[in-house]
Amino acid sequence: MKSCGVSLTTAAVAFGDEAKKMAAGKASREGEEEPLSLTVEEREALGDMDSRLFGFVRLHEDGARTKTLLGKAVRCYESLILKAEGKVESDFFCQLGHFNLLLEDYSKALSAYQRYYSLQADYWKNAAFLYGLGLVYFYYNAFHWAIKAFQDVLYVDPSFCRAKEIHLRLGLMFKVNTDYKSSLKHFQLALIDCNPCTLSSAEIQFHIAHLYETQRKYHSAKEAYEQLLQTENLPAQVKATVLQQLGWMHHNMDLVGDKATKESYAIPYLQKSLEADPNSGQSWYFLGRCYSSIGKVQDAFVSYRQSIDKSEASADTWCSIGVLYQQQNQPMDALQAYICAVQLDHGHAAAWMDLGTLYESCNQPQDAIKCYLNAARSKRCSNTSTLAARIKFLQNGSDNWNGGQSLSHHPVQQVYSLCLTPQKLQHLEQLRANRDNLNPAQKHQLEQLESQFVLMQQMRHKEVAQGLHKSQSSCLSGPNEEQPLFSTGSAQYHQATSTGIKKSNEHLTLPSNSVPQGDADSHLSSHTATSGGQQGIMFTKESKPSKNRSLVPETSRHTGDPSNGCADVKGLSNHVHQLIADAVSSPNHGDSPNLLIADNPQLSALLIGKANGNVGTGTCDKVNNIHPAVHTKTDHSVASSPSSAISTATPSPKSTEQRSINSVTSLNSPHSGLHTVNGEGLGNSQSSTKVDLPLVSHRSTSQIIPSMSVSICPSSTEVLKACRNPGKNGLSNSCILLDKCPPPRPPTSPYPPLPKDKLNPPTPSIYLENKRDAFFPPLHQFCTNPKNPVTVIRGLAGALKLDLGLFSTKTLVEANNEHIVEVRTQLLQPADENWDPTGTKKIWRCESNRSHTTIAKYAQYQASSFQESLREENEKRTQHKDHSDNESTSSENSGRRRKGPFKTIKFGTNIDLSDNKKWKLQLHELTKLPAFARVVSAGNLLSHVGHTILGMNTVQLYMKVPGSRTPGHQENNNFCSVNINIGPGDCEWFVVPEDYWGVLNDFCEKNNLNFLMSSWWPNLEDLYEANVPVYRFIQRPGDLVWINAGTVHWVQAVGWCNNIAWNVGPLTACQYKLAVERYEWNKLKSVKSPVPMVHLSWNMARNIKVSDPKLFEMIKYCLLKILKQCQTLREALVAAGKEVIWHGRTNDEPAHYCSICEVEVFNLLFVTNESNTQKTYIVHCQDCARKTSRSLENFVVLEQYKIEDLIQVYDQFTLALSLSSSS
Ligand SMILES: [Zn+2]
Repeated sequence: MKSCGVSLTTAAVAFGDEAKKMAAGKASREGEEEPLSLTVEEREALGDMDSRLFGFVRLHEDGARTKTLLGKAVRCYESLILKAEGKVESDFFCQLGHFNLLLEDYSKALSAYQRYYSLQADYWKNAAFLYGLGLVYFYYNAFHWAIKAFQDVLYVDPSFCRAKEIHLRLGLMFKVNTDYKSSLKHFQLALIDCNPCTLSSAEIQFHIAHLYETQRKYHSAKEAYEQLLQTENLPAQVKATVLQQLGWMHHNMDLVGDKATKESYAIPYLQKSLEADPNSGQSWYFLGRCYSSIGKVQDAFVSYRQSIDKSEASADTWCSIGVLYQQQNQPMDALQAYICAVQLDHGHAAAWMDLGTLYESCNQPQDAIKCYLNAARSKRCSNTSTLAARIKFLQNGSDNWNGGQSLSHHPVQQVYSLCLTPQKLQHLEQLRANRDNLNPAQKHQLEQLESQFVLMQQMRHKEVAQGLHKSQSSCLSGPNEEQPLFSTGSAQYHQATSTGIKKSNEHLTLPSNSVPQGDADSHLSSHTATSGGQQGIMFTKESKPSKNRSLVPETSRHTGDPSNGCADVKGLSNHVHQLIADAVSSPNHGDSPNLLIADNPQLSALLIGKANGNVGTGTCDKVNNIHPAVHTKTDHSVASSPSSAISTATPSPKSTEQRSINSVTSLNSPHSGLHTVNGEGLGNSQSSTKVDLPLVSHRSTSQIIPSMSVSICPSSTEVLKACRNPGKNGLSNSCILLDKCPPPRPPTSPYPPLPKDKLNPPTPSIYLENKRDAFFPPLHQFCTNPKNPVTVIRGLAGALKLDLGLFSTKTLVEANNEHIVEVRTQLLQPADENWDPTGTKKIWRCESNRSHTTIAKYAQYQASSFQESLREENEKRTQHKDHSDNESTSSENSGRRRKGPFKTIKFGTNIDLSDNKKWKLQLHELTKLPAFARVVSAGNLLSHVGHTILGMNTVQLYMKVPGSRTPGHQENNNFCSVNINIGPGDCEWFVVPEDYWGVLNDFCEKNNLNFLMSSWWPNLEDLYEANVPVYRFIQRPGDLVWINAGTVHWVQAVGWCNNIAWNVGPLTACQYKLAVERYEWNKLKSVKSPVPMVHLSWNMARNIKVSDPKLFEMIKYCLLKILKQCQTLREALVAAGKEVIWHGRTNDEPAHYCSICEVEVFNLLFVTNESNTQKTYIVHCQDCARKTSRSLENFVVLEQYKIEDLIQVYDQFTLALSLSSSS
């Protein structure tokens, strides 16, 4: 195993000497207190300690003594650094960072690491440092930075001993970021790893199952949960949580049928969960919801009561209690419960909604409006538009009602005072609880509060009664005839109010739950007799310590009781949102770290490095950032109960995050163990401590790594000289240039920024008149010139007399009507805008659901969509006037412009035309194209791969209706692409040059999108703001669009049309460089590279004469690097006694990829014994193989090339003299 740390022994020894010197100097000069020093043994022990021990210190034989030692070491290092005025080896800071990390002093660890980072240019070689830094960022929920640091570790050291811990955390962070694909990949990578880990396999499996649930893949989730239950010796806590999830899922999902059936499954699961963990307030709460849903009111109350007793009362619980009361016709109790809910969580949309409904039912529209406004303001409000309509309706209506009367009943602000302030309530509860031990003053207070309480109770009862009474008359004030909307609405309103509360119960909103309340009425009749005061939850007269807390607002809890794990978790999860938001929205997240240690300003000054240029003017502002967080309760999701959020019919990303966050934060504790799955009952009070900003820094890329350095060093001729004819032992490690390369980084925005008037450049276009134009060589050069990110070749089809009719929908149906079509269901939007589904704001994310159909069926859809639009066009013409009227009324609704609702459209995409038999005529027609644009040609790198890469070296077809969108992307491995519009309609293109991809990548990250994997549609305003030039043009039928290497682009159909497209790899230095860079970037990002660049490079060396010296050098360098890797790995295997079995390869054998991590595996294939016997050959890379089987006993190593052969290919690959690179 590679050593990934700094050589600590050296550092420690150096320190020892330093210390002695310092000590001597000091003693003689000042005679102060004796400085600390470390013994030889201590130094030795410390030598083994770095970030990799994080989470395992306790497992160490002697945890307590280790901690003492670490503490002493920190004091020694600090005093040394202080005395040396910060002028110590950079390694000292790294080590100090490790020690502080292991002591869980995160802020000190961060500043020490930052100091190391600023001093050590090649910090990226130090995996232990990157890992420690990642852990600190993770602790602070600075996921953006944590992800970067962790990915760097795996890039520089794929066999890092804590890879499992990293994958686990990446999985959790990506889950929070809603990047589910990446999340799953990392969880799976964590799961196959048999190295020790702070979480058990069961817990990782739980996270995977929960990931399915989060994505609403309920059947997969159910399967995964149930499989987990089969695990032998499943820890009770995991078991309880799994059962809880299963129960709640059955309650919410349509897995099993009608409501009664659902609950008949859900309830036993929850009961079993409570058997495994009787103290889970969450399970009790869920059980309450289940009982409530089937009308078992008494059981529901009992369960809610239990929930409140067992855990922190949550806003969810109180809201649900309120609903139950309201259904029981106990409006006052309902009111109180709702108010408890919104006191606990002011952003609890469901509780505000219900409170609004309650007020409405009591004919207090003004109060209802206030509640609805509060609900609408909540980020978790899912039905803003309905709500807005309701508010508007009430506003119109209530103006009327209020006209003639002065309503004296309490407006919503007064609710708080009526309800007693939380502080007073808390005080009251405390006094009640200690009734027997009160002094006279306190007794007096208690009496006062009690009487006040009773008074308020009575008052409210009276007022609500009045309100109910009034409702009848107030409605009679009559509709406003000028507003038809109102008059109909008023009728509805009248109907609603006249049936009173009972009717309004239908609209009650349970916390993030989709359970329809329609049936509630039928239960009401049978249960109205029961009195809530008796069987329900008396939150006024009884007192329990646990209830006390429930009434305390979140803010006051955090600073107070550190043992209150639950509160901490909630608070922290609140904060995660904010943190993420801060982290991503912080404009200068490329800047330097700024952090001071509060308790030792002198040291912190040193750690920060006063003289260091890194310290900007902003430094001082951030000094105060380190403090235990005092959270304001602004954003607590509906789901303090994780799963309740998950279960919602239309979960907001927020609410799904919540669950994961609870789980994530618990990992912050190095010894988190079981609590992680539960999301509650976390004992680690430190989790709630945080720094406001991630305070992080990666230096701007231009400073550390020229973007070329990915794996190609420009001085490769020297390397080549040094390693010529490597021979048997020739591939020594003396080739320094072949050492580790720094992790790739996206390019920073080109400097200087383009002036604003240059941001809409004209699109490079060429008009063809005849065939000769098309074959004119400069056309090829023009297209591949890196200065032209895109070229539109106008009139190509006409010039070449291409029969585009072969790709018309009619011909396609005739040729292969049953051929499969991938369908993307999208929202029809204006081409240059992308709105969220409610039309409220412009966003980058553009979701589209995937499904499949046939050419025939899509053709039908395409045709009927066309006819429908003709019809609509006609209707529009006649109704034009009405339409514009409507628009003006709706726009005054809210201050800003609103879009939508959007029509849904279907885009037929990625239709595979690779089959030469099925698509003979079509494919043959394309051979008429000039060579450089052809699917297959000698000058096309993709023709040298030797096997099919679907959609890249084969043709794909797209069938479109207006609005069909190909979201933003670069082509696979940055290859060029050719796209021909078949027509009859046009397409609109948006194109951004390659060197701006880093800027777009940043935007994606800020929007929680995966640049490589997610669907996104850039906001043109953002791009303009960031000085990103955008080429924009229309592609007409017969036009060919050439997308140059690395160009970012997105396309929308203007009319009904088909397109065909494929990739091309021109034999240029630029293409090869960008392809390799993307290959490395994909590796860093754990994304598969569709083009196997290693395999391709060897084929190029065998088959192509390269005359461009730059291109030649790059290829040669790559070959050398691979050769060295093969040789080193082979020698290591043989030295370890592992047999390397000759396997060879067939001619057209595709390149191999690791079946686990999807990196390309070249030459030495690690194949499981089993699959080797079965000849199915499941290939692993070495790192994945070693994760499942450390000494590779479960694997055979198959060799595909003889080293001698590779050396020969390498040596025979020479620079060709001819001037033209290819035909
Ligand atoms: Zn692998």
